[in-house]
Amino acid sequence: MTELADNYKRVIDLIAASAEKTGRSPEQIRLIAVSKTRSLEEVKSLLSLGQQAFAENTIQDAMTKIPALSSTPAQWHFIGHLQSKKAKFIPGYFQWVHSIDSMKLAEKLSRAMQQYSVTAVLNGLIQVNVSREVSKSGVLTDELAGFIEQLLQANLPGIHWRGLMTIGVNGDETRTRHAFIQLRQLQQKCRAEFNLKTFDQLSMGMSHDYRIAIEEGATMVRVGTAIFGLRGNLLT
Ligand SMILES: *Cc1c(COP(=O)(O)O)cnc(C)c1O
Repeated sequence: MTELADNYKRVIDLIAASAEKTGRSPEQIRLIAVSKTRSLEEVKSLLSLGQQAFAENTIQDAMTKIPALSSTPAQWHFIGHLQSKKAKFIPGYFQWVHSIDSMKLAEKLSRAMQQYSVTAVLNGLIQVNVSREVSKSGVLTDELAGFIEQLLQANLPGIHWRGLMTIGVNGDETRTRHAFIQLRQLQQKCRAEFNLKTFDQLSMGMSHDYRIAIEEGATMVRVGTAIFGLRGNLLT
């Protein structure tokens, strides 16, 4: 097996093991391969191993891959900070955006989807800054209910609200687990409070903490390095 195939199999096996450890079915967890900074060839290799969900964090990088793979079953998730003026690049390319954290962005995304096609709907996740780190984007925990209320009042037909996303605390397992537990509690509370039946997704967990995330209820894990190896530029 190639190194990529090896890594990929290891991640799939570990996802199953973490799910089983907490009595969950591995089918409840969607593995999203984070292909940011990777080449088109690397994405093609992973596609040929059966992976279909991929994530990018900049429009520029995504556009070197998504159009070239439009005839494949690849599905695309946007996971980075998105400037609202770039919302127009989402329809037709991405099926999911994990990083919605402002009214302005939500409105622009909904409008862009509607302009693209009146029936087009984007799956939207709200990014929450659970750990309150200043360096992180996302809505603060205390402001989440008010934000969702505003989103629902604005009636944005181009976005289907599917759940919450967060990023763990680098190098701190205890705080990371706590953040993931909090995100799950917030998702359950908001789903009930606003009667959102399909607000059922929890996007949490990256290469170093996806096993913790699965133990705490993640339905989507965003894994780059553990599949593709270290990125050349460690700052990205
Ligand atoms: C880069 C990135 C990931 C993947 O990180 P790895 O450590 O390479 O698995 C996941 N989520 C977000 C938001 C990212 O920017």
